[in-house]
Amino acid sequence: MHLFVKSLVIAVVVTQFAIFSTTIFLHRTASHRAIKLSSRVTFMFKLILWITTGIRTREWVAVHRLHHAFTDIEGDPHSPVLEGFTAIQLKNVMFYRRAVKKPGVVSKYAKDLAPTRSDKLIFDHAFVGLGIGITLLVLIFGWEIAILVSVMHTFMYLMLSGAINAVGHTFGRRPYDNLATNNNWLALLTAGEGLHNNHHAAPTSARMALGKFQLDPAWPIIRFLVVAKQAQIRHAEPKFVNQVRVSKKSYAS
Ligand SMILES: [Zn+2]
Ligand SMILES: [Zn+2]
Repeated sequence: MHLFVKSLVIAVVVTQFAIFSTTIFLHRTASHRAIKLSSRVTFMFKLILWITTGIRTREWVAVHRLHHAFTDIEGDPHSPVLEGFTAIQLKNVMFYRRAVKKPGVVSKYAKDLAPTRSDKLIFDHAFVGLGIGITLLVLIFGWEIAILVSVMHTFMYLMLSGAINAVGHTFGRRPYDNLATNNNWLALLTAGEGLHNNHHAAPTSARMALGKFQLDPAWPIIRFLVVAKQAQIRHAEPKFVNQVRVSKKSYAS
């Protein structure tokens, strides 16, 4: 297979590992407590995130909870309404870093997630994790593919994360009365995160798909973990926060 195509296929797989770990662990489990995971599965997700993204759990959680506390109003760390669609789509990671560095954000919004022993020893060292990830790629596929995969994966992960915050608050359907939007195509690429209107309506729901024909690729994995007794779901039925189902119309604001 052509070097570029082979690298692209590997990069898609690596990015999807990072995306599934982000939505199942960082988002649904750590941020919203919609799921309770066993310590071994938690460790596995943290390991994947460490070598594919270098993200620290408490930082991601704090920024994300801040977004729920100030959705599209002053204080939202990454709102396309405040900053413009293009800024959030393309420079989401800068807004993320800015929010992490703001004094008090992590200590206030992730106070339940004080660094554990494994955080201090392993997962807080972002560049060591990314270095291990790249080294693994070099050892398995050689340096040429390793470089291409690293660049492609970084681009895809950042663009998809940006799209959840930018597209997911701008274009798409709003079945529930909130500013976020649902996009099935984005949900397919982001393990369910594209159903962002549903998520703002019921943030503690472990399941993102709440209607017919909605795609949540992470849900079968979560169900599998439940059956394997590695996960517990907090609410059997989604709990809605001050939401009414308004319509099925598509808005293109
Ligand atoms: Zn949102
Ligand atoms: Zn959330």
